[in-house]
Amino acid sequence: SIMPEEPSKVMLLGASGVGKRALIHEFMDAEMMRHYFQSSGEYDDADRSVSILLDGQESTMEFVDILSFNLQVDEFVTADQIDAYVVVYSVEDRKSFETAIDRLYEIRQEEARNIALILVANKTDLVRTRVVLEEEGRSAAKTYDCKYIEVSAAIDHRIDELLVGILKQIRLFKERN
Ligand code: GDP
Repeated sequence: SIMPEEPSKVMLLGASGVGKRALIHEFMDAEMMRHYFQSSGEYDDADRSVSILLDGQESTMEFVDILSFNLQVDEFVTADQIDAYVVVYSVEDRKSFETAIDRLYEIRQEEARNIALILVANKTDLVRTRVVLEEEGRSAAKTYDCKYIEVSAAIDHRIDELLVGILKQIRLFKERN
C-alpha cells in the first residue's frame, strides 16, 4: 500500500461575502458523507481538513483563509507551504470578480514556482441577479493559466467536482516539482 501523504494546504481567497466559509462548510459535509459510506474515521467539526480517496490514494487537504491564517492581504503570497490557491468570486457581484482578478495577478507575480490555482465562480443559483458571465470567468482563468469552475455552495452544486479538481491540481504540480 501507499504511504499517507502530508496534508496539503489550500488557501481560499476572495472578497468578503463571496461564500468562502460556505464553501469550506460544504467541503466538510462532502467528506462527512464519504466517511459515513466508508465507515472510516471520525468527523471532527473543529478542524477544516478533508480526506479524499482518489485513484487509490488517500489525500488530506486543509483549508485556510486569510483571516484564519492571520495575514495581511499583501503578505499572503509569500506565505510558505501553501499547495493551492482557490480564488472565489460571486457571480452576482462584479466588484468581487475584479478583486478575484487582482488576486490572480498577485499570485502569478509573486509565485516563482508553479502552483495549483483555481478560479471559482460561486452563487450560480442566483440566476436572475447574475452579472458576471461564464465567458468572463473562463477568459480570466485562461489569462492567468488556472482552472475554472462554476459552483453554488447554497445548493451544493458541483462542490464535489471542485474538491476533486483542487486535489487533481495539487497532485499535478507535486509531480512536476
Ligand atoms: P465569505 O465572507 O467569503 O466567507 O462568505 P460567506 O461564506 O460568509 O457567505 C456570505 C453570504 O453569502 C452568506 O449569507 C451565505 O449564506 C451566502 N452564500 C454563500 N454561498 C452562496 C451561494 O452559493 N448562493 C447563495 N445564494 N448564497 C450564498
